[in-house]
Amino acid sequence: MNTAGRFGNGRGILKTVAATAVALGAAGALALAWPGGPTSAEADTPAAQAPATPRPTERPVDPSIVHASDRPGRSLNITIDDGPDPVWTPKVLDVLERHHVKAVFCMIGPQAAARPDLVRRVVAAGHRLCDHTIAHDTGMDHRPERYQSDQILPAQRMIEKAGGAPVRYYRAPGGAFTPYSRTLAARHGMRPLGWNIDSKDFEGGSVATIEATVRGELTNGPTVLFHDGGGDRSRTVEALDRLLPSLRQQGYGFGFPQH
Ligand SMILES: [Zn+2]
Repeated sequence: MNTAGRFGNGRGILKTVAATAVALGAAGALALAWPGGPTSAEADTPAAQAPATPRPTERPVDPSIVHASDRPGRSLNITIDDGPDPVWTPKVLDVLERHHVKAVFCMIGPQAAARPDLVRRVVAAGHRLCDHTIAHDTGMDHRPERYQSDQILPAQRMIEKAGGAPVRYYRAPGGAFTPYSRTLAARHGMRPLGWNIDSKDFEGGSVATIEATVRGELTNGPTVLFHDGGGDRSRTVEALDRLLPSLRQQGYGFGFPQH
């Protein structure tokens, strides 16, 4: 049963189109392609067939890895990876709310499916969703295309269904993008998302170390990487609580990565 609201309609339409397309063969599939759907060159590749076919709600986006902010001027994009986590995601949400900052949450599909309440909290607070795959395999760039597709597309559906909102970005675990995975994600409406500033909050350093790491990389570019999953994130929460107001005082604003 689909509880994802307006996405339910898209799926229903897609099923009808896909079934008809199969009945008509490849030529029929091309004739039935909707605006923003797969290109004619890609329509008959395995990855483009149901359930991998983009739904009408997904408009293809640029497949290049984005780092830039959609906010002009001195800006940062806060990105939070590896959740949702029942302990740490609510604390990260609280600290972001306290400082009026919107972020991108790169979620693991099964974790999102297990805690749809957390995904909905993220969406309700105005943050954006990002696909961080099913199994967080940082070596997935060395695996077959079918494996990559099976990591990316089911995770997108899980996160989207849990949150009732589109998943706008795809971040490969450990940055293990491939041209194939970037193109696949982009065709499904997800802009590949990189980072410029690695807070290294997962390395067990102190709050001061995390702060210093971020400050030391501010000239790298606007997109900052933190984590709300994968272990004790108390230092991440504390570092965000210190960094966000002081960076704002330094003249930084907070935006989203370009989509
Ligand atoms: Zn990750």
